[in-house]
Formats: sequence, structure tokens, C-alpha cells
Amino acid sequence: NHHLIAFRLFFSHKYSTTTMLHSVFRRGGVRALLTRRVTHPRFFCAPTGIQKLRNVAIIAHVDHGKTTLVDRLLQDTNALLGNQVHGERVMDSGDLEKERGITILSKCTSVLFEDHRINIVDTPGHADFGGEVERILNMVDGVLLLVDAAEGPMAQTKFVLMKALKKSLKLIVVINKVDRNEERVEDTEMEILELFEELKANESQMDFPVCYASARNGWSVLDLEKDERKSMIPILRTIISHIPPPACDLNAPFRFLATLMSHNDHLGRFLTGRVASGRISTGTILKALNLKGEFVEEGKVMKILAHRGLKQESLDEAVAGDIVTIAGFSAASVSDTLCALEVEEPLESDPIDPPTLEIRISVNSSPLQGKEGTKLTSAQIGERLRKENLTNVALDLEGSGDGVSFSVKGRGELQLGILLEQMRREGFEFEVGPPQVVFRLDENGKKLEPIEEVQIDVDSAYSSLVIEKLSSRKGELNELSTSEDGKRTKISFFSPSRSLIGFSRELKNETRGTAVMNRILHAYEPFRGTFPSTRKGCMIATSPGRSTAYALASLESRGKLFIPRQVDVYAGMIFGESSRDLDFEGSPVRQKKLTNIRAAGSDEFIKLSPHREILLEEAISYVQEDELVEVTPKSIRLRKRILDGDERRKARKRAKNQK
Ligand code: GDP
Repeated sequence: NHHLIAFRLFFSHKYSTTTMLHSVFRRGGVRALLTRRVTHPRFFCAPTGIQKLRNVAIIAHVDHGKTTLVDRLLQDTNALLGNQVHGERVMDSGDLEKERGITILSKCTSVLFEDHRINIVDTPGHADFGGEVERILNMVDGVLLLVDAAEGPMAQTKFVLMKALKKSLKLIVVINKVDRNEERVEDTEMEILELFEELKANESQMDFPVCYASARNGWSVLDLEKDERKSMIPILRTIISHIPPPACDLNAPFRFLATLMSHNDHLGRFLTGRVASGRISTGTILKALNLKGEFVEEGKVMKILAHRGLKQESLDEAVAGDIVTIAGFSAASVSDTLCALEVEEPLESDPIDPPTLEIRISVNSSPLQGKEGTKLTSAQIGERLRKENLTNVALDLEGSGDGVSFSVKGRGELQLGILLEQMRREGFEFEVGPPQVVFRLDENGKKLEPIEEVQIDVDSAYSSLVIEKLSSRKGELNELSTSEDGKRTKISFFSPSRSLIGFSRELKNETRGTAVMNRILHAYEPFRGTFPSTRKGCMIATSPGRSTAYALASLESRGKLFIPRQVDVYAGMIFGESSRDLDFEGSPVRQKKLTNIRAAGSDEFIKLSPHREILLEEAISYVQEDELVEVTPKSIRLRKRILDGDERRKARKRAKNQK
């Protein structure tokens, strides 16, 4: 059928074949005539009337099979187009994402199915990326909630799901891994229903379609009993039938909301977002407006890119509804509107949350400096941070003026911790102090501090403990509710950001891992005053060397050790937490006096209790003002700022006298 149309056009317009094929696709009317199952790849460089476009976000807990599913969707749609698929996986999570259990980088892809284009966007899974979740959800008209048939819905995805429901997005549930022996499809479905009820889904959202899938085996069905298990097509069909096309006007002036930002060495800043109205081609002059409607800059569209399967492809044109990347601007950023010169009103958007936490990163000055990393200088650290600043809108970077340290402001420990962890894996060594909350002053000069809304979902047995902990840290109870069966309690507090530093680990330990916490900035409010610290004193090494089991065994009774035997230690390094409030000094490197030769090997036979391994984010929230965390690719060491014991005591005395 389409060959016939092409043939006729060829003769009537006397176009060259390429122009002709192009024109077939530029004419919505002709394209509409094409049959639904167009399978020739060349015919599909740019489908698209808005009616044939779908934008969906995927919400999934890590390991529930998102990457496998998207891969299969690509494979099946590509097979229909006669294309090959390579071994790469599109939405593959990095190591860090796997460890943290959340998506850190938002990724996009798109598939062609029948004559529709489906843009698929990944959603970040944590409130530290708060503003970003909401902006990403603004690009889509529906979400695919992917749930493991054995594990059921996980609390970590609740936050993003709640945002999606609030935005009245259409929902499709995909229950994946139904092939697993442990599958509990019916229970999982019930749990999802309960979750939607709890999150106050509206009536149309409650009426969601369910697809059952085994992404790994490449099939999905709508009816688990009757349908043949052969491909992912049922999911694609459901997306097309259930999720509406973007509601936007192709004939209005061009407007585009920058939602994600990245950097390209040749083309500079890349802004990704959905075109809200109109169309543009490369070369068009546009302007950028900020959230308030203020002029930011004027620029020429140098390049338009869009995700097409695994790749980003150059497009001649960006049209309303599509998710594209635009290059050619240098000042415009996330939340700004790129628009035609005559447009005066920016698009509505969720502002980027202001940074609430600041850390200071400097060159590693420990005696073990340079032994484990390859990137050590302040020039290298500065360069890396500046690069991050180009693409990470949630970070603010300042040099300290002394040339050796940098102040980095971000939205939370998790976000800052992820940056430091990435740097460490790239070979950097540095030291970092404890995070400081970013205070502000009101118009009368009164100190304001960030207050966050903290939501904690926990086994009811621990609810009073959680309430007590947050109350003692100047938090105010906002809401409290218990699930119908009484097993889980939802607690909402307004708490100072200050009081939440290091709290997630404490929460995890004290509730035996049953609590899930989500936080989001609520407001800047008057400073709520100090509260007692719960931290104990630390155990400080008095001399350098390698730790011995002999020495550690004798120190075990004084507190909890952070180091195992046979690691490098320096004077002033913190090797454990004292069981008392005061610091304790001792030597973890002492060796047993050798009385005879045979006794020399005896160290390895000494039994030690397992030490407490300190992870990076934990270390940062653990240290106090007079302490630092030394970070290298291989180690995370805690230390006193002043390594020499006598100097430390003098400094403490001076500080006391000044008070
Ligand atoms: P992601 O973290 O959500 O992207 O999850 P992945 O797609 O990486 O999948 C996590 C693990 O689950 C991998 O080992 C997959 O092979 C496995 N997996 C994915 N889909 C299925 C499925 O349908 N059935 C089973 N049994 N395993 C699956």
C-alpha cells in the first residue's frame, strides 16, 4: 500500500526518491494513509503527527527488570523494522545505582511501534533529586509502573509514584518476572491496588490496565491464562491505547521547557525537554526565559538531537510533543523556557530546589597521601568539580580562594555522597569536612534554616522510637497514620535539615532496616536552636604503623573499632568509636614483645570481633568540625584535622578560652 502511494507521488511530483520519501513523511495526511504496519526502516526516520506520539516514564525499583524490559521492547520493535540490535543495554544501571537501589542518572530512549513513536524516560528514585522527579514527570503523559511479581511494590518507588499520581498521569502496571518460582502475582496485584488507594489515586487511575511479563523471556500478556506468550507487543499496544498523545499545539509559537542538562565537548550545553508547542528547525533563533519570565539569552539552534533506540540522532526539525535535545545555548538552564522571539510567557515549571547542604573538599593532606589515588592536585579536583557543575544543576561550586579547597553546595547527603563516590572511583584522592547546612537571613537579619518534610514508613513496632528520635532533634510531628492491618505506620515530620545529617543510617540500624525515609525541602524557617549530639567520643591513634591484632584485641573493650588488622594507620587517625563521650587515645599498631621466634606468627591466630566498616556517606555525616574524612580509591579513613596530639590539646584549650 505505502509503496503504491510513494510510487504515485514519485510520478506526479517528479521528485528524486529521497526528497519524495521525505515529503511522504512531512505530510501528515499522506502518512496517515500509510498502513499501520509499516515495516521498512527507511520509512521511519521521523514519524509524526502528535497523535502518533506517546511519552511515558518508567517507575521501577532497582532489579525489578527495567533494563531487561526496555531492551526487549527495543529488540521487538527493531525486529519489526528489520533492524539488528546490538548487545548494549539502554537503561543499564551503574554500579552506584545498584548499590544505592535508585536511579541516579535520568536516561531516555524511544521505540517505533506500528506507526507510533514511544519516548521512554527513566525516573530518578529519590527526593534528593526532588525537583528533577517532578520536572521529568512533566515531560510525559503516562507512567509504566514495573513491579517484580515476587517482591511486590517497594516503598522506595512510592515517592515518585505519588508525584505521578498527583500530576494525574495515566498508569499502566507491568508485573514482571511472572516466570519466577516465587511469583505471587495475585498478592502483588492486591498490594499495588492498596498502594494506589493509599496514595489517593483518582478513579481513572485506579482503573489501570495490567500487563504480565517475563521480560527476560521476551514476552508479555494481558491475560495470564489465555494469551499466547510470544512478544512484548501487548505492552506496546497498551501504551498506545491507554496513554494519550501529548496535548499540544503544533501551530502555536515554539516553546520548550529545558528539563535535563548535559555537556558536550564540541557543542557545549545540551538541553533536553519536551517541545510544548510549535516546531523549529536547526538554525532558528530562539530566546530563553527563566521561570519568572526574565530574558536569559538569545541563541541559534545549532543542533537538534533525539533518542532513537540506543543512539542519539540528529534531526532537522523538532516538533511539538516530542522529547528532544537542543544545542546552541550557553546560559539557559534547567527550568528555563526556550521559545520563539515573540513569546513573552515562560512555561510553568517546578523550580530547582535550592542547595541546603555544603561540604568543603580539599587536597588530601594525610601522611598516606598519594599512595592509592592517581588524581591528587587541587587543579585536578577543581577541574573535575567544574565539569560536574556544567551538567549538574543541583550543585553550586565555589573556590575558597586559598587554591586548595572548594565548597560544593548540594541538595542532600545522598547527592553529595554520590558525587564524592564517583570521584573516588575515577582515581581521586581528597579530604572532606562534615557537611554544613546552608543558613539564610531574613529581612530583619534573623537566622533561617532549611526545614524538610520527612516521611518515614516503618514497622509499627518502631513508630514510637522514630517519633521520639525526631522530636528530640527539634522536629515537629505533622501526620501519623497506620495501615489497616496495623503493621506499618506512616510518620511525617517537619525537621531541620541539620538534624537529619546521618539520620538515615541511625534509622536503618534502630528499626532493623524496616524503615524507608523520603525527604523533601519544605521551607526556610527561623532557626530552631541546638540539640544534644548523640555522637560518642572517638578512638584516636597515637602512632603510625600497621594495625596488629594484638593491639586491636586490647582496644576492643574501649569501643567499636573501624579498622581490621594489617591496615596502615597514622597518628591522629580515628580508628574507632569510644564507648564514652570523651575521645580516647591509643595505639592500634603496638606489637607483642617477642620472647621467642615462634611467637612472632601468633598475631594471625588472635580472634577479633568484626569491625564496623564505614561507608562514604556515613563517614561524612559522622565526622565533626575538628575532624575530616580522607577519601581515596581504596580507603575511607577518618582523622582529626590536627594530627598531633599536643597541638590538638592546645587548640582545644585556646577554643575553650575564647568561649
Ligand atoms: P533493573 O535494575 O530494574 O534495570 O533490572 P535488570 O533489567 O537489570 O534485571 C535485574 C535482574 O532480574 C537481572 O538478573 C535480570 O536477568 C532479571 N530479570 C529481568 N526480567 C526478568 C524476568 O522476567 N524473569 C526473571 N526470572 N528474571 C528477570
